[in-house]
Amino acid sequence: MLTDLAAACRKSGLRVVESPGWKTRGRPASTGQFTPMGVLNHHTATGRGTSDQATTSLLINGHKDLPGPLSQLGFSRDRTVHVIAAGRCNHAGPSRAFAGVPGGDGNRWWLGIEVFNSGYEGWPDDVMDGLHALNAALLDHYGWPRSRVAAHGEISTSGKWDPGVNGRLIDMNAFRAAVAGVTQGDDDMQNTEEQYEIFRHFLARALRYDVRPLGAGADWKLGPTLWERLAQLEGNLGDQITGIEGADVEEIAQQVVESLDDDLAEKVLALLSDRIGGKA
Ligand SMILES: [Zn+2]
Repeated sequence: MLTDLAAACRKSGLRVVESPGWKTRGRPASTGQFTPMGVLNHHTATGRGTSDQATTSLLINGHKDLPGPLSQLGFSRDRTVHVIAAGRCNHAGPSRAFAGVPGGDGNRWWLGIEVFNSGYEGWPDDVMDGLHALNAALLDHYGWPRSRVAAHGEISTSGKWDPGVNGRLIDMNAFRAAVAGVTQGDDDMQNTEEQYEIFRHFLARALRYDVRPLGAGADWKLGPTLWERLAQLEGNLGDQITGIEGADVEEIAQQVVESLDDDLAEKVLALLSDRIGGKA
């Protein structure tokens, strides 16, 4: 079981949402082993009309013809990584050997990412950039060479063409070249990441214990969008999102970071506004 999968994903710098129970989720041991050696990319074949929640639920539960979980990870159009399962999943099926990964039982040998895409809508640059970063972070974390990246359509022996567009696989040689070229954050970025983590935990603690940020008045309130984002970040604050509305994300953030020193606050604010998308 890859119980460190969420931590591995966070090294990409992308937003990561952990589905409840993911650490113990997987196909039963009776279905086969799970000893992954590389990262396999897919598309879900779900369109924009299907909510992220519905797609995530599909990945967790499967469908009448294929029991879940259907992949270890989901990657939504807003570049959020959804952690679905730490164990074996029904994503690869029978496979051929590729880049040093054995053939046969693909679900044993590959860690799967299902990208939320219909297979007909195309692949925006920002989605691809995020996907490259996610693949690179996983490969580095697990000590696999950057070349151990494949498309389902490359290794499948049953005629798959995902991830693709209109029945044709995306250019996986270009994809691998991009993954090979991903540079994980430099020292400044690492520092900012650490500072962001400090801020995140500070804010989560404040929410959990209903502590107001320093300088906030009696009418201090948190906007619903920010609540949702923070709940995603914390994973387990969802049941506390009740009866709170109004207010401006940047103002709230400003109030909270007043308790941090100026240099740290400035970096955190910049990163926070990038991560949570500005105003509620
Ligand atoms: Zn697939």
